[in-house]
Amino acid sequence: MPKSSVSRRRFLESSLAVLGAASLAQLGKTIILADEPVKPLGFAFVGLGQFAMGQLLPGISRCKFCKPVALVSGHPDKAKAVADQYSIDPKNIYDYDNFDSIKNNPQIDVVYVVLPNSMHAEYTIRAFAAGKHVMCEKPMAVSVKECRQMLDAARTAGKRLQIGYRMHWDSATLACIDALRQGQIGPIQIIVAETGFAIGDPTQWRLNKKLAGGGCLMDIGIYSLSAARYLSGEEPTEVFAHTYQNTDDVHFKQVEQHCDFQLKFPSGVLASCVSSYSTNLNRYEVHGRGGHCVLQPGQAYEGATFYMDNGTGLRQVDVPAGDQFAGEMDGFARALAAVAPFKATGEEGLQDMRIIEAIYESARTARAVKI
Ligand code: NAD
Repeated sequence: MPKSSVSRRRFLESSLAVLGAASLAQLGKTIILADEPVKPLGFAFVGLGQFAMGQLLPGISRCKFCKPVALVSGHPDKAKAVADQYSIDPKNIYDYDNFDSIKNNPQIDVVYVVLPNSMHAEYTIRAFAAGKHVMCEKPMAVSVKECRQMLDAARTAGKRLQIGYRMHWDSATLACIDALRQGQIGPIQIIVAETGFAIGDPTQWRLNKKLAGGGCLMDIGIYSLSAARYLSGEEPTEVFAHTYQNTDDVHFKQVEQHCDFQLKFPSGVLASCVSSYSTNLNRYEVHGRGGHCVLQPGQAYEGATFYMDNGTGLRQVDVPAGDQFAGEMDGFARALAAVAPFKATGEEGLQDMRIIEAIYESARTARAVKI
């Protein structure tokens, strides 16, 4: 059987032709297509907090090529209840101390790290040492140095890393990127990306510099940054930034409350990005010479909404329904089976972290920083 998916498909088609079958499309419902993963990947979730419980575990239940097989938690009772809910063998419940013994569990193919940001590097590197592929939540880590260590660990293990950039599987976002690449609003001039929310509990890890690595930029501003990159299709060469934190407010003793940054791209596109932990913001705008596009919300779990005006007034563009969470996990499974390209790679996460470090440097020094 040929190795590449295209060759495999051609091989299967010619074999079917010999057997007198009309086409793969006609048979697709009754046979397993050669280019789809045959065995679902087993996922171990590390950290059973709000995002894992509220989005990722329900999301993997909708996957075609992935299933939950193990949990890693510091709370055995909670883990047992979650295992019951998702039909996970209780023998596959681990804690943070015996985590490394996952290497002896062949049911686990992928470890999904859903911990506070400063723990991402440690658990990703330990998962690679155990011989597993890794999905890791955003931000990839809290420094460029850690991102590089994670990529080195992946290379040493010969395994792959995907970052939880769910918007890379969002239908409206993908439709907007497609319209922009087709030139439907002409050459892009200006991007405005705004992300923020009013943060609650002042004792949570997101407001602890050591655990979070930073404030609103690390958590929610990274969406504006990522959007400026995927909407422009370019990499910024320079950044200028301001941060603000009212240290009299109990929430902002350690991390920034607002971060405002401008990115300069090689073609001349400028992106103006705002993020905040004390106001709700969720909108991206792309202005071209022949119109503009709006994604509002720009990055909600249920998907963005895409509007475009390319000369006939602003209208909502219909897009097929999507599923960011099943999409990103099945997308990783398909990429590992060599039938889809890898997206949201560790290199993507590293690039965002390089820019984030430049943003903080600019805010600290009140100077533009080259990237
Ligand atoms: P959370 O506080 O709800 O959960 C954190 C989990 O880590 C809990 O299970 C907690 O018990 C565990 N943990 C282990 N050690 C801890 C420690 N020292 N301090 C605090 N918690 C500890 O957080 P969350 O909202 O689930 O976020 C987890 C990760 O997921 C973060 O990296 C976050 O950026 C990311 N996230 C991504 C999205 C997205 O849309 N992609 C959305 C929310 C969160």
